[in-house]
Amino acid sequence: MQHNPADLDVSTYECYECGTRVESEAHQGTCPDCAGSVRNITVVRE
Ligand SMILES: [Zn+2]
Repeated sequence: MQHNPADLDVSTYECYECGTRVESEAHQGTCPDCAGSVRNITVVRE
């Protein structure tokens, strides 16, 4: 991981279907590549 999610308030999402990872400040509901479902894989640190 090279970025700092806590600094930029960006969440990382991974597509269930194709594994594409998307970083977005807004909630990501679907994969930009295949329109499949994505899940939030952001590691939250206190
Ligand atoms: Zn996908």
